Amino acid sequence: MEFLLTFLGWLGFSFLVGSFAQRRGRSFGAWMIVSLLFSPLVGVIIVLLLSPIAEKTEPAIQHPEAFKLCPRCAESVKRAALVCRFCGHEFGNTPNP
Ligand SMILES: [Zn+2]
Repeated sequence: MEFLLTFLGWLGFSFLVGSFAQRRGRSFGAWMIVSLLFSPLVGVIIVLLLSPIAEKTEPAIQHPEAFKLCPRCAESVKRAALVCRFCGHEFGNTPNP
């Protein structure tokens, strides 16, 4: 009985470590397995030590000044681009404001 409770607790904490890792942009399954194999405590510590993976942001959001919006497909393309890489729209020589 005691073994079963320990096992269930171990499983539950591993599940928590998995969801915790997932919230930080890591793989749920991989970290649950790490916690199961070693210890949920070890899993938590490793996930905490690893910096969270930054969510992928559009380059246009990081450097808005280097991009312009395509008038045809409304995608952001490099300011220096002459042709839209999404729809093939040609910008010509007049730079967009
Ligand atoms: Zn376009």
